[in-house]
Amino acid sequence: MISSNRLISGIRPTGELHVGNYYGALKGLVEQQERYDARYFIADIHSLTTHPKPDDLRGFVIGTARNYLAGGLDPERCTLYVQSSLAAEICELHTYLSMVMPLGELLRVPTFKEKAKRHPDNVNYGLVGYPVLMAADILLFKSQTVMVGDDQLVHLELAREIARRFNQLYGDVFPEPQPLLDNAARIPSLSGAGKMSKSDGAAAYVSLQDDRAAVGEKTRKALSDPLRGYRSQPGHPTAEGCNVFRLHTFFTGESERAAIAGACRAAGIGCVECKERLADSFSAVIEPFRERHMRLSEDDAVDILRIGRDKARESARSVIAEVRQAMGLLML
Ligand code: ATP
Ligand code: MG
Repeated sequence: MISSNRLISGIRPTGELHVGNYYGALKGLVEQQERYDARYFIADIHSLTTHPKPDDLRGFVIGTARNYLAGGLDPERCTLYVQSSLAAEICELHTYLSMVMPLGELLRVPTFKEKAKRHPDNVNYGLVGYPVLMAADILLFKSQTVMVGDDQLVHLELAREIARRFNQLYGDVFPEPQPLLDNAARIPSLSGAGKMSKSDGAAAYVSLQDDRAAVGEKTRKALSDPLRGYRSQPGHPTAEGCNVFRLHTFFTGESERAAIAGACRAAGIGCVECKERLADSFSAVIEPFRERHMRLSEDDAVDILRIGRDKARESARSVIAEVRQAMGLLML
C-alpha cells in the first residue's frame, strides 16, 4: 500500500554505480517505492560542487537512471527525475531558504570543512551552500521522510532547522523532514582502503555493468590477507583478517563461505581460487542487472526522466506559489 507520506532520496552522478550502491541504497529505494509516495532524483547540480566534468556528466546521469530502472525502480510506482530539470523551482527555493540560514553554521558543517581541506583550490560558494540546496530539494515537495546514509544526517538536521526557521518567520509551510536510514552496512573497497566509492577509480569497485571477465580481472587484484605470503600458509578468513573474505560475507552464501573459510585455514585453497569464487558471487548479483540494463535504451531512460520531471514539477509549482504567498512576494 502506498501511503501519502512523501519520501525523497537523491544520488550524485559522480561515476558508475557499483555493487555497494546497490547493496546500500538501491535495494532500499526499490522497497520503499511500495510504501511511500516516493521521489528519487539524480543530483547533477550537487555534483558540480566537487565534480565539474562536462564530458562525463551526461553519461553518468543517464547511466544512473538506467541502473536505477534496471534495479527495479518502477516509473508507475515512484517519480524519477534529474535535479537540473527542475532547476527553476529548486534554485528559486534555494535562494529563499538561503536567507534564513546563518552563514556561520554552514561554515561549521564537518563535511564542508573536510571537503574544503581536501580541495583547497576549489572552495566554492556552492560548496558552502550545499546543505541549503539539499533543504530545497527536500522541502520543495514538503517531503516528510528522506532516505539517506548516516553521513548525510548532519545535512538533514540543517534542513530541519531551515524548515523551522522559515516557519517561524512566515507561518507553518514546511513539515520537518525525518530521516529513514539506508542500509548501514558498507561494502569495502577492493583495494582494502575504506568503503567502495564510485569516485575512487574503477579498479577499486565492481560496477553494475562489469561483465564476468572484467569482474574477474578486478577481483584478482583485490587486497586479500596481508599475513598470508605463500599458497602453503594457512590464511585468516575473517572480516578483519582478509578483505576478500570480508567481501564474501556480503556476497557469498553461508554454506559456501564456511567451506571457503575451512579450506583457507587448512591452506587447501589459495587466494587465486578464493577470488574466483568471489568474482562468481559478484557476477550472480550483477548479471540480472546487466541484462535489464542492456534492454533499456538511453532513449527509454530519457523518456522516463521527462515524465518524472513533469510529474515532479506540477507539485513543486504549487509549493513555490504557497512559499511566495507566505513571504509576501507580489504575485503577478
Ligand atoms: P562518491 O565517491 O561520489 O561519494 P559513492 O560510491 O560513495 O560515491 P554516494 O553517491 O556517496 O556513492 O552514495 C549513494 C548511496 O550509496 C548512498 O545511499 C550511500 O550510503 C550508498 N553507498 C555508497 N557506497 C556504499 C558502499 N560501499 N556500501 C554500501 N552503500 C554504499
Ligand atoms: Mg559517497
